[in-house]
Amino acid sequence: MTKYHSPATSVIVIGAGLSGLTTARELAQRGIPVTVLEARDRVADPWRARHPQLRLNIHRHFASLPGRPMPDKDGTFLRRDTVVDYLEGYATDLDVPVRFGVKVTGIERAGSVWRLATEDRTLECSHVIFATGRDRIPHIPGWKGRDGFKGELVHAADLGDVARLDGKRVLVIGAGNSGGDVLNHLAQHDPAEVLISVRHGPAIVPTRVFGFPLHRAANLFAALPVAMLDPAFRLMQWLFFGNLARYGLTSHPDGGGTRLLRDGIAFAMDDGFVAAVKDGRFKVAGTVAEFRHGEVVFENGQTFCADTVICATGYHTGLESLLGHLAVLDDHGVPLHPAGETDPANNGLWFTGYRPVFQGYFHAAAETAGRIADAIQTQR
Ligand SMILES: Cc1cc2nc3c(=O)[nH]c(=O)nc-3n(C[C@H](O)[C@H](O)[C@H](O)COP(=O)(O)OP(=O)(O)OC[C@H]3O[C@@H](n4cnc5c(N)ncnc54)[C@H](O)[C@@H]3O)c2cc1C
Repeated sequence: MTKYHSPATSVIVIGAGLSGLTTARELAQRGIPVTVLEARDRVADPWRARHPQLRLNIHRHFASLPGRPMPDKDGTFLRRDTVVDYLEGYATDLDVPVRFGVKVTGIERAGSVWRLATEDRTLECSHVIFATGRDRIPHIPGWKGRDGFKGELVHAADLGDVARLDGKRVLVIGAGNSGGDVLNHLAQHDPAEVLISVRHGPAIVPTRVFGFPLHRAANLFAALPVAMLDPAFRLMQWLFFGNLARYGLTSHPDGGGTRLLRDGIAFAMDDGFVAAVKDGRFKVAGTVAEFRHGEVVFENGQTFCADTVICATGYHTGLESLLGHLAVLDDHGVPLHPAGETDPANNGLWFTGYRPVFQGYFHAAAETAGRIADAIQTQR
């Protein structure tokens, strides 16, 4: 293994996604030398892997990173490919070295520096910024009999082209933000049958309120106390959609604001799926118990013979193997200081991109990048 001793003042960012690139830009702007390490061979791979029909669920007003406006060609909600092109351009314009194909595999404290292991070398730096993504590892629960299921079982992250599901019997497990997105697309296609499995009904908001894109008001939501937001969103859901419990979509005991800010579970945004539930095209079932003889069995004993099961069942950060020994993660593997806060016990260790906010991750990336860059500048 080659060992490199970087200068003691050097800063390394792990991950060339929007969070990492924004932080690198803010550091460079302050004259602080920085290198970005990216495991993949190009930027924006997580976006490229998402399904081609994907549009951002945030208003384009909140989708620009510092120093580069987002092109205004897709309307309110930007297309996946526009985001990919934008991030490529952002990385190209940065006056910062981005080393592709370099995966960080370990980290330890070595005196006053952080020592990073990659697949073929060791690097040392004073400051290391983790920007590896909150949604890095798709999570599929280990239901009994799952591996023997003969149909197609995919995570929402690997959905692919929704049009291929025309004529199929589809089960969507989970109806949070990703599940809602999948269901909105299915509502515009022609699957033979759609069943939605929910443990608790999601907090649902309309994408537009009388034509106005609701997410444009995200700054207002962010400014209000969650104790006000939770009942307000409940009321909005009831006013727009009525009593969804009649269709099996019961409400989670905690409100949507609490679930976003505390648990990182975003609202389901309706763009057609609620109407499909109400007119009976989509049906709601309870919790999946197991897979048996090629069928999905629910906890109430109901069964469903699905061609395709789409698991919108969340993501993990995958940080435990890298950082578990440092006691900097919560029980879900999310950093305890997720958005550029100083950790007195781990000077020089920073995180960005792990805390959801109402305005979305682009906005959060800009705020966190400024916080981290200011703090590092002060320490130099
Ligand atoms: C289906 C889906 C839709 C979404 N839609 C939206 C949306 O509309 N609006 C929104 O704001 N957010 C959305 N998100 C959240 C989204 O994940 C973030 O907006 C954005 O991708 C986060 O950027 P990031 O830079 O923090 O992480 P990522 O984009 O995940 O980038 C992390 C980078 O780190 C690299 N990396 C990881 N581990 C290592 C390692 N050990 N060594 C080196 N490099 C490493 C990865 O290869 C990757 O390039 C969506 C998420 C999903 C799953």
